[in-house]
Amino acid sequence: MSNYKNIESALIRGGLFGDPLTRSVNVPIYQTSTFQQPELGTNPKWEYARTGNPTRAALEALIAELEGGTAGFAFASGMAAISTVLQLFKSGDRILISSNVYGGTFRILDKVFKPFGLEYAIVDTSNAEAIEAAITDDVVAILVESPANPLMTVTDLWLVSDIVHTHGLLTIVDNTFMTPYLQRPLALGADIVIHSATKYLGGHSDLVAGLVVVKDDDLAERIGFIQNAVGAVLGPMDSFLLIRGIKTLAVRMDRHVANAQRVAEWLHDNDAVKVVYYPGLPDAQGYEINRKQARNGGAMIAFELKEGYDYRQFFRSLKLISLAESLGGVESLTCHPATMTHASIPREIRLKVGITDNLIRLSVGIEHIDDLIADLDQAIQESEVK
Ligand SMILES: *Cc1c(COP(=O)(O)O)cnc(C)c1O
Repeated sequence: MSNYKNIESALIRGGLFGDPLTRSVNVPIYQTSTFQQPELGTNPKWEYARTGNPTRAALEALIAELEGGTAGFAFASGMAAISTVLQLFKSGDRILISSNVYGGTFRILDKVFKPFGLEYAIVDTSNAEAIEAAITDDVVAILVESPANPLMTVTDLWLVSDIVHTHGLLTIVDNTFMTPYLQRPLALGADIVIHSATKYLGGHSDLVAGLVVVKDDDLAERIGFIQNAVGAVLGPMDSFLLIRGIKTLAVRMDRHVANAQRVAEWLHDNDAVKVVYYPGLPDAQGYEINRKQARNGGAMIAFELKEGYDYRQFFRSLKLISLAESLGGVESLTCHPATMTHASIPREIRLKVGITDNLIRLSVGIEHIDDLIADLDQAIQESEVK
């Protein structure tokens, strides 16, 4: 943390706090596309809002500080952030991705970048030997999520960065599920951190945004260039909303995680549940690694009901928890990865990586824990095939 010893303070006062002109405690929304220039050739700091906007700049300084980087960049969505990072590479290069990355990340590589000649390969990033074996001459970077969507697979970020750096490649971490409050990949050796800020950072399911943070000046310059050249930037209103959301990240996450831990334990002990995926359970894959690299297990859970329970009826029976795409908002959401978030992944690849047709994903919100468990309990009972 550059200016504050504890991230709880940096979340509120980091980046560019308030407004120096009026001393307002909040960064103003600079709703403008352009800025007056005093005369020809003065090279002003603010000239055109695609290149730079003061509200966006405050957000970019904030996320850079929170992730322990030197430069931050704000985009119109998480996918715009990922797309911009992928544009660092060129035809003939190859990116390694973990076996259960976000469906949209797979889709953009497979359907948008591959036709331009940027190749990808899927690798089990929780397995060091598999990574070594996948590093062919054309590999330029590895893109990982930990815990990865939707099976909460944990990857040892320090180990991956270590392997990747001996080959002179870049480590890119999508830190959406953890946020800088729970995990800081740059400190674990990563080169680029990406967020879908639509999720926990925004935290209220009321905006779509993406962020990128780096710690290397050359990378910062290249990403800044692409951000301006391509122009998938975040507007000032959404930048303001995101700064506002980030201020309460620590208190929200504490409650998200406390609830998720209780829900995961309850599911784990439930006779109707076949398997629970949650990195905060001691018998989960990667539990020890996650404990070393993250504050706790986060607030995303996936589980399967046993045979004799109908997952369609489970979704139908929920009263409090909403069936919806997305995650990380204060309200609990559930989704069906096979037909929703991961529908763009061909079924045979999906099944190979363990995303079965009856897998249920939960984004545990900050409602009262008793209400959440009561809702899950009645929905599971309703879903029993009689
Ligand atoms: C949602 C999400 C994305 C995409 O972000 P958008 O803001 O929806 O464009 C990327 N990665 C992960 C892990 C996500 O959950």
